[in-house]
Parts: sequence; structure tokens; C-alpha cells
Amino acid sequence: MRPVARVFHGNETLEGAGVRLHRAFGNREVPALDPFLLLDNFRSANPDDYVAGFPWHPHRGIETVTYMLDGRVEHGDSLGNSGAIDSGDIQWMSAGSGILHQEMPQRKEGVLEGFQLWVNLPAREKMSTPAYRGLTAKEIPIVETDEGNRVKVVAGSFGGSEGPVVGLPVDPTYLDVTVPPNGTFRRATPPGYTAFAYTVKGQGRFSPSSEEPVTGQTAALFGDGDAVDVRAGEEGLRFLFVTGRPLREPVAWYGPIVMNTPDEIRTAARELERGDFIKERKVLVEE
Ligand code: FE
Repeated sequence: MRPVARVFHGNETLEGAGVRLHRAFGNREVPALDPFLLLDNFRSANPDDYVAGFPWHPHRGIETVTYMLDGRVEHGDSLGNSGAIDSGDIQWMSAGSGILHQEMPQRKEGVLEGFQLWVNLPAREKMSTPAYRGLTAKEIPIVETDEGNRVKVVAGSFGGSEGPVVGLPVDPTYLDVTVPPNGTFRRATPPGYTAFAYTVKGQGRFSPSSEEPVTGQTAALFGDGDAVDVRAGEEGLRFLFVTGRPLREPVAWYGPIVMNTPDEIRTAARELERGDFIKERKVLVEE
């Protein structure tokens, strides 16, 4: 059984043109969560905290995974692709060799909440053709277990259901798990893979040997093993459960661009200045 190796409480930060968000982990934690680079959780009932959004910016060398629990983010890229990510939807974007885009949360009543996870690309795929996978809520299977757990399967498999995001280099699992009060969630995990959980709501123990329950906007990184065993507290527990194959490659990180060497970062900066950052005049749109 995997123990909890580390707990990340994260910190409040300002990103984009002034979006207030909770960063669970980021460049200071590299390489603890390899192949995952960053997890942001935005959650606010005040539109001033998010409407400034994330205007035009580049990405290269990573995948960005945007998951909306509540609210809408409109996005568009410099090649003319555009769309919206609504409540329950996921956009899994592979920036590959380069994309210039904007992501704009839309004003709403009540709480807007969502996540963005950055997944690293292996060296051999950092300069690949950019690709989008846009998944609406109804395309993502939900598994209800005998124990009363409700599991939304974005990537990887659970209870015989396969998530729609497949064929990615780090072989990711991405589950949105709701466990009833005092319930248990167990799942096998490939040994050697990185696994973490991020608490969305409620509290629980992420390993039978954990003394302290985890609560609030907290990420728990699991130690190695072949399964996880999570126990919900009295109010129940909702968490994101994410696993992936570590890349074990050098990381050179400059803002929204993550490569392997400082030289590749300098090249990207020079290309942005010169205007030849975008390598592909098309973006693959995958279902
Ligand atoms: Fe972005």
C-alpha cells in the first residue's frame, strides 16, 4: 500500500492578467511530482478575482489540462481555433512545438471553480504538432461503485470504464473521485508511477498509516507501492486522483515554456521575439 510521502499545502498566487488562484505545486517542487509540473485551483465567488483571465501567451513542451467544476472558460488560439470549457468539461491540450492562446474565465453568479494541471512532455515529443482534446461533461464516463463511490474517469481506467483521453506519452490516470462519509476508495497503481491526490472538498486519510487527515486545498503525494487506500472522513471526500509515468529528464522551465535545456529556452525566447515561435500552421483536433 502506498504511504503519503509528502503533503503540499500550496500558496495563493496571482497569474495571467491578475487571476487569484491557489497553486498546489509548481516549479519549486520539481522533480517531486515528475511528470506533473504544476496544479492550479481557481475558486472564487468574486468575478474580480478571475475576469482579467489569461490573455495571449505562448506554451511549448507541455500539456495543459483544464477541468471546470463550475463556470466557463472561453479560449482561442492564434490560428483561429476557439471554443469554451463549461462546467464538467475538460480540455487536454498538447502545446507541443508551440501555441499562442488565451484563456478567459467568464463572469458568473456564485462560485467559479476549476483546475489546470501541467503535464510534461518527453524530450522526443516537445516539438510535436500541437493538439487539442476537448471533452464535454457527457463524454466522460462516471462509475458508481457498490461502496457508494462516484468516479469520473477522464484518463486511465476505473471499474471497467476507460477514460476518453488515451495514447499519451506519460500514460496518465485522471479521476475525479467522490467518497461518501466514512467510505473507502481503493485502486491499484503501477509501481514506479507518480501518484497524487488533491482534496476538492471534505477530508480524509490518503493512506491507512496517515495520522493526520488531509483537508482543504491540499495535495498528497504518494510514496511507491502498487495500490492506494483512501478513507473519507465524516463529511465525505472529493478529490482528484492523478498518476503518470515519470520522465526522469532534465527540466528547464521559463514561465509557460518547459524544455530540457537552458539552450532550448533561449531558442524559444528568441523565436518569440522574432515572430517564428509557431512551427505548425495547424493544430490537431482530436476526439
Ligand atoms: Fe495557457
